[in-house]
Amino acid sequence: MEVDLHIHTIASDGTFTPEEVILEAKRRGLKALAITDHDTVDGIEEAKKKAQEIGIEFVQGIEISCNTQDYEVHILGYFLNLEDKKFMNELEELKKARDNRNLKIVEKLKACGIDADLEEIAKMAPGKIISRLHFANYLVEKGAVLSKEEAFDKYLGKRGRAYIPKENFPPERAVKMLSENGAFVSLAHPKLVVNNDGIIENMISNLVKVGLNGIEAQYGTFSPSDIKKYKKMAKRHSLLVTGGSNFHGANREGVNIGDTGITYSQFRLIKERNAGGKL
Ligand code: AMP
Ligand code: MN
Ligand code: MN
Repeated sequence: MEVDLHIHTIASDGTFTPEEVILEAKRRGLKALAITDHDTVDGIEEAKKKAQEIGIEFVQGIEISCNTQDYEVHILGYFLNLEDKKFMNELEELKKARDNRNLKIVEKLKACGIDADLEEIAKMAPGKIISRLHFANYLVEKGAVLSKEEAFDKYLGKRGRAYIPKENFPPERAVKMLSENGAFVSLAHPKLVVNNDGIIENMISNLVKVGLNGIEAQYGTFSPSDIKKYKKMAKRHSLLVTGGSNFHGANREGVNIGDTGITYSQFRLIKERNAGGKL
């Protein structure tokens, strides 16, 4: 694809540095890309610099982890304004919530008889964000499980014994904070939130009220009929379509930058919508 709007770096739970991501995107012939690390913008400056240097269009992005009573919801933001103090403070709150949650996950793992050590886990995360993927790698390395999948199935996933939902961060709050920042806001991988059309469409209606602009209808694990369905959903709510690979380097085998995404003409619509006719 020409444009990949969903990519992680070592600033969260990817394994490529921001520079490496930019170089790889260029090598693969992409026209534009966004870096969307979980709850952090730490990778943006380095990526932006490299992108300018080698000549590829770069979008400052983020993927914010939220939760409702029943579901994990990820909200993507694009064209972020990093000068916005209120926004940067909200990111600090998110970091605190994540750190708190990580402490609780460690406690739960201990209760399962696994002698988990947060400092050891932190060593496996090059950036400031420690995600469940780092926990999964840790559990594999420790020999507590044989694979990352088993780590999520048994412990870290929604039905796992050490599952802790992200606290106090409803998707409405993320959409609002991004919208107030001037960002373009999209609902990440809707099918992974909940594979139920009525529930997701209801959620979308509510998020549109607080500023949602798009749906990530083009996603690697979606079938052609899923894509068609989410594109229709987008249309019904006057939303645009976003798409991306959700690249995590070695932390997500078999997924490369640009495997999934959108065309440059789809991307142009997003830019135009975000500029509010100023382009
Ligand atoms: P967190 O932000 O701490 O909730 O962790 C989210 C990370 O865990 C993301 O990178 C997801 O891709 C990954 N993840 C969530 N569920 C699974 C799963 N069942 N198998 C593998 N990775 C997962
Ligand atoms: Mn996600
Ligand atoms: Mn992601």
